[in-house]
Amino acid sequence: MRSVVRRGLVAPSIVAALTLVTLVVAGSAVALGVLAIGAAAIVAYHLWNLDQVTQWAGAALDAPVPHGRGAWVETFAALHRRARSRAAQERDLRQVIDRFQQVAAALPDGVVALDASNRIDWANPRAQAQLGLDLAHDRGQPIVNLVRQPEFLRYLEAGDYATAIVVGSSRDAGRMLALQLVPFAVEQKLLMSRDVTELEAVARMRRDFIANVSHELKTPLTVISGFIETLQDLELDQDQRTRFLQLMQEQARNMQRLVADLLTLSALESEHNPLAEERFAIAPLLLELSADAKALSRGQHQIALDIGEAATVQGSRDELASAFGNLVSNAIRYTPPGGTIVLAWRVDADGSGVFAVRDTGIGIAPEYLPRLTERFYRVDRSRSRATGGTGLGLAIVKHVVLRHQAQLEIDSERGKGSSFAIRLPARRIESAPDTGARIAGPGAGESAGQAPGELAPTSTEAQPGTAP
Ligand code: ADP
Repeated sequence: MRSVVRRGLVAPSIVAALTLVTLVVAGSAVALGVLAIGAAAIVAYHLWNLDQVTQWAGAALDAPVPHGRGAWVETFAALHRRARSRAAQERDLRQVIDRFQQVAAALPDGVVALDASNRIDWANPRAQAQLGLDLAHDRGQPIVNLVRQPEFLRYLEAGDYATAIVVGSSRDAGRMLALQLVPFAVEQKLLMSRDVTELEAVARMRRDFIANVSHELKTPLTVISGFIETLQDLELDQDQRTRFLQLMQEQARNMQRLVADLLTLSALESEHNPLAEERFAIAPLLLELSADAKALSRGQHQIALDIGEAATVQGSRDELASAFGNLVSNAIRYTPPGGTIVLAWRVDADGSGVFAVRDTGIGIAPEYLPRLTERFYRVDRSRSRATGGTGLGLAIVKHVVLRHQAQLEIDSERGKGSSFAIRLPARRIESAPDTGARIAGPGAGESAGQAPGELAPTSTEAQPGTAP
């Protein structure tokens, strides 16, 4: 027999036994009284317990289960077990929710849950930051009240959520967000937001770069093909032919320079091109640069070389030669004839080695300085082109500087001249104090092949070069 029934029969059995005994001992009237009192007590006991259960069922979910006696012990114990297991389930559920919220908070992307009427149900902290939501106030608000970009409204209405859209952030001008709706359950949606500012900038740079390269190649190609047509169609005298061929050659050289600079840039940017960590004496490199400068200037400028302190440098000789050479070539190209250009090397007190090129050329207004190292950025496009510039020289310099953990220091005044310096960190420099020398232009005993120790020290003033 089940224990509830067994326990439940104890009290009626006692009452029945008492009634029988009373019937024998005291007669039927008393026995009837005992039976009535016993039955009333049993009914009252059950009603009281029923009331306890009813009150507990109507109380808060975590209200303790009352203790029962007799027939009700089992019932209350079963309710107690059920309440305990519900509390355990609730704890587990809360842990799952906590975990979900931790995961949602750690997501690099924003997530907003929208109900069937596109009202905000929930959002992770990233979405709240990116979209400017405050869940405490905005829960239940239509998403279109808070994400108001017209592109988003069109996207939401169109109902085609296969791809994301990119919109400008309304909170943070200049930042770009990719927004994508992901339907789930019945008519509910997740709105995913991702900050794509950097990706967009790279994509834009790539587009601009391709457009620039195409444009830079198109110009000389148009000129060359025009001359070819002229040479084919017209009877030209020898002088004209020679002149046209010279102009074609000039354009071909421009293209060659551009392609060479592009290859240099791509090699510098390549991940598979580690820096060659050579050790080389700086003085012979400076002498080569000075000789190249004079060849480029063709005697139109006064060129001086000032080696404050000879040193051994650690790094890629080719790359540094290319960067230094670009600065020298710029100084010559942007300095009108008669100007002065000084190539200088020194080792500073902190041990860093500085190669500087100073010119008395056209200079650069301060507003252009921050963009000079961008690819194809030129202050004066026609002057750059006319002097054979590719617009990539300082971009190459920037990469070489970065690869050597160096710094590019630019100081310029419009109409007065410029100074471009590359500061190599102390750990790349080993100075050789005794070999310092100061060399002036032609006539001061300088030659490209001389070793630093052979340089004749000259006056501290840079001497003007003698134009041939
Ligand atoms: P470019 O081939 O046009 O010279 P660069 O990248 O070497 O390209 O230089 C970018 C721009 O910086 C040049 O177009 C020029 O306007 C400016 N610039 C660079 N060096 C000098 C300088 N020494 N004096 C004046 N302007 C300079």
